[in-house]
Amino acid sequence: MRDKIIALEKVAHQLEPDPQLRADWNRLVQQYADDFLNGIEQNPAYIETDDKGSALLDFPIIEESRDLEDLLAVLRENVDGPGLNPASGGHLAYIPGGGVYATALGDYLAAVTNRYAGVFFASPGAVRMENQLIRWMCNLVGYPDTALGNLASGGSIANLTAIATARDAQGVRSADIPNSPIYLTAQVHHSIQKAIRIAGLGECPLRYIKVDERFRMDVADLERQVAEDRAEGLNPFLLVASAGTTDTGAIDPLNALADLAEREKMWYHVDAAYGGFFLLAEEVRADFKGIERSDSITIDPHKGLFLAYGTGALLIRDVAALRDTHYYQASYMQDTIGADAELSPADLSPELTKHFRGLRMWLTLQLYGVNTFRATLSQKLWLCRFFYERIKQLGFEVGPYPELSVMIYRYLPKDGEADAFNRQLVEEVRRDGRVFLSSTTIDGVFWIRLAVLSFRSDLAWIERSLQVLEEKVLELSTKKEDRMLS
Ligand SMILES: *Cc1c(COP(=O)(O)O)cnc(C)c1O
Repeated sequence: MRDKIIALEKVAHQLEPDPQLRADWNRLVQQYADDFLNGIEQNPAYIETDDKGSALLDFPIIEESRDLEDLLAVLRENVDGPGLNPASGGHLAYIPGGGVYATALGDYLAAVTNRYAGVFFASPGAVRMENQLIRWMCNLVGYPDTALGNLASGGSIANLTAIATARDAQGVRSADIPNSPIYLTAQVHHSIQKAIRIAGLGECPLRYIKVDERFRMDVADLERQVAEDRAEGLNPFLLVASAGTTDTGAIDPLNALADLAEREKMWYHVDAAYGGFFLLAEEVRADFKGIERSDSITIDPHKGLFLAYGTGALLIRDVAALRDTHYYQASYMQDTIGADAELSPADLSPELTKHFRGLRMWLTLQLYGVNTFRATLSQKLWLCRFFYERIKQLGFEVGPYPELSVMIYRYLPKDGEADAFNRQLVEEVRRDGRVFLSSTTIDGVFWIRLAVLSFRSDLAWIERSLQVLEEKVLELSTKKEDRMLS
């Protein structure tokens, strides 16, 4: 038996590279990362290719090992080439973040040490660190000491966890579902509707409340709808507000909504996945007034703190509610029960074995200090305001003045259909690739969006995007005139 084991171990031990191999691998990976980052200012934000990296499939997983150098070449060609480069400062679509380098260092160490951050007993330090970060965010939003939450993989999971918690805290059982309305606007992020369905609440009546001219929830309409539902004997139990909508960055009237939620004893969830960290920016801090009166908040460090993808957060005013929904004891986990100094993520979320995602966030915040983020977030606000003025001067129609760092605009061609023109315009910008913009449709109208949130998006990138738009409008207009003349 020993011989057999020793023979197998010869292979198994390869999983532990010796110091020389480790150094070789580190050097190659480091070189790759340096090449990537050194080219980030010049390289396009979007690369359109026909094959879309399909040569990746020529490298299937096989029994034998391959060389790291070859694999990095495959990666460069087929993964880090085609499509959107989310690390580029020219990524001004959806909600970017950029992915600060310190995230990579935190992840590297988290993976090498592989600390188990799910349970306090196993890694008190890792759990303390994650809870410290959550408390820092709770403090930022103005929550009391009863609050805690969970570092999730993103805002969608945070929203799902919040909605499942709201369901239980409000005692909504299966028979109650058809009589328990949820209040939201058409401007909520679609992860809310998705979460409602996944949480088993798909048959709750969804009450889409009117929005004002700046796409913020109309409190009077909400009041009317809740009263109507009460009169019919229904059970209003959940109000979902947005602090920074994805389409236009609108912040709902959080304080007035808090009054109503309090009076009606509804769970009040604020989705601040995109907007939440703008609490750090003096310019807009007051617009969030009332967020501290909510029951739960989603906030995304991989957006507003510019971390690489993979870190969202849920904050809950009364952590007991979160624990009631997510706590479970398994017999094989019995050693972990005790009077712990900290609540464990495993008891506050659907996850058990989890990425030690706190380290990337802790390292980033500690290395830079909060003031760096304050300034960078302010810069994003001003860049969006700058773009707003300039794009108006270029003759575009604009949506509302940006509340945060997202705005909508479109070009009204002299003749022809505006929606079709703008759809083509976005497509031409994407094909050009220097910058990347996306679009949205609001009330049937096609708009182009600008979302300034990558830490790399600076004045040069904004000016480049204006230049590209100006060029493409000219090209499209000339083409059309040529067509009409011929
Ligand atoms: C991005 C976003 C989400 C979803 O978060 P993910 O991290 O992408 O899962 C939810 N709500 C809002 C307002 C967002 O901007």
